[in-house]
This record gives sequence, structure tokens and C-alpha cells, in this order.
Amino acid sequence: MSASPALDDVLARIAAAARAAGRDPADVALVAVSKQQPWEAIEPVLAAGQRLFGENRVQEAMERWSERRAGLELRLIGPLQTNKVREAVGFFDVIETLDRERLAKALADEVQKQGKAPRLHVQVNTGEEPQKAGIAPADADAFIAEARGNYGLTIEGLMCIPPEAEPPGPHFALLAKIAARNGVSKLSMGMSGDFETAVRFGATSVRVGSALFGARARP
Ligand SMILES: *Cc1c(COP(=O)(O)O)cnc(C)c1O
Repeated sequence: MSASPALDDVLARIAAAARAAGRDPADVALVAVSKQQPWEAIEPVLAAGQRLFGENRVQEAMERWSERRAGLELRLIGPLQTNKVREAVGFFDVIETLDRERLAKALADEVQKQGKAPRLHVQVNTGEEPQKAGIAPADADAFIAEARGNYGLTIEGLMCIPPEAEPPGPHFALLAKIAARNGVSKLSMGMSGDFETAVRFGATSVRVGSALFGARARP
């Protein structure tokens, strides 16, 4: 048995969902969302072989992972302030939350300076929720074109967080449609409660926290 039955279970569920959708399970990556988790919860998942982790705060991620960064892929999945762009570009392999022009410009400047480019996803606010980050669906095509054309950024994927009170399927379908018409190949969608649905709608990575590590301490 592996060090983490929870990891085994989530990986098996991803694989089953992929096969049921006629997809290769190898085409769906698991991003283990370690934010706000105690090290005792993370350690078994790392020991069981998980190497891809997601964090939603730059500072917290650096504190948790700096000393054991080698061999890992780390993704920023939370909002990025422009005054943290230097650290984020230096530290993360993937930034999934590009959501405004000012940030595109800051990322482009920093990539130039550091000669190092994290892979980028544009966050789309599929539910058009005022409290949520992300580009409105109607503005996504123009924003992606601008990020590529004006700022020379490579947009590898799209990311969304559907509204909690709605069935997620239509949001995942919308994100997949926007990606397809913009020639974007990666789809970051699905969390603990809905990752199997996301796989059915074409997710290439799912972001799973509590199903792997247990409930987070409430802030
Ligand atoms: C916290 C978080 C997750 C993980 O949520 P769970 O429901 O615990 O799986 C996924 N994506 C984002 C953007 C998050 O902030």
C-alpha cells in the first residue's frame, strides 16, 4: 500500500473518469493543493510520489517549499499582486491566474529581466461573479490575443472556478470552448467536489485539496 490511500483514491477516480470519457488517464495531471495544510498532511502525499503541487499565496508557498523545491512542479493558483510578480516568476513553474492587463505587462517585464518564463494560464470568470477574479468570457478572446500579441506571452492554458451554487458542467464546457477557439491546449478545472465532471469535460489538470489532505483550517 502507498503512503497515502487518499492519493491512491483520487488518482484512481481520475483514471476511471478519464477512461469513461474515452480519454487517456495520462492526459490528466493532478495538482495537489497544499495551501493552508499542515506538513503532517502533506508529507504522506509527497512520500507516495506526488510531485505537482498548487498554492494560492506566493509567500506561503515559498515558506513551505523553498527548502525542498528540487524535483517538484509548483503552480500558483491564487490571485497574483503585481508587487509579488518578481518572486512568483522566480519561484513557480506555472502561474494559472493571469487575469488582467497590468499583470500581463508586469509578467512580460519580469520574464524579460529574469530570462525565465513560467507557463501561463488565463483565469476566466465563467460565472461572471463580481467577487471572483478572472476575465469575463466575452473578453477572453481579446485578452488572450493581447497577452500574446502586445506582451509576447505564451498562454498555455485556461483556468476557471465555477460558482459554488451551480452545476459545474456548463462552466467547464464554456472554458473548453474558449480554449479551443483560441488554440489554447491546457484546461485547469475541477476541484475536490467536481474533478470527475471536469475530466469528462476535458480537464488536462484538476486542482484537488481537501479530498487529498483533509479539510483546511478555516481562516
Ligand atoms: C483551494 C483551491 C482548490 C482546492 O479546493 P478543494 O475543494 O479543497 O479541492 C482548487 N483551486 C483553487 C483555485 C483553490 O483556491
